[in-house]
Amino acid sequence: MPYTYDDQNIFAKILRGEIPNDTVLETEHSLAFNDIVPQAPVHVLVIPKGAYVCHDHFAAEARSEEIVDFMRATAEICRLKDISPGDGHSGFRVIGNAGEAAMQEVPHYHLHILGGRLLGGLLPVA
Ligand code: AMP
Repeated sequence: MPYTYDDQNIFAKILRGEIPNDTVLETEHSLAFNDIVPQAPVHVLVIPKGAYVCHDHFAAEARSEEIVDFMRATAEICRLKDISPGDGHSGFRVIGNAGEAAMQEVPHYHLHILGGRLLGGLLPVA
């Protein structure tokens, strides 16, 4: 899995404080902020602070503390945004795009957390 990380990507610039973001949550190893082009009433991006390109890169190479921190951050975002079905809310979807086939735009690993409306089927009909 020979991923090369481009440290000029926009999320790397956000992490370095070079461009602003609308932060929802910051933890030791993760940052979450509102998507600049929201696709739903709740559209939060959660990213690890480490230099990982996409999901399999992160899952294979991140330290356990980073992975646990990241996953717990996603739960906290759902709690903060009132979208967890476990709390009686209407639910959410988590999307992680990787590479060309998924049309990943930003080559720093991120999950989209979407909620606040009916989200439709998993994928549009091809
Ligand atoms: P993806 O196609 O999965 O790589 O998604 C990248 C997402 O990043 C898109 O939903 C963009 O709207 C979002 N995005 C790009 N630049 C910014 C930014 N500066 N702040 C917040 N979200 C951004």
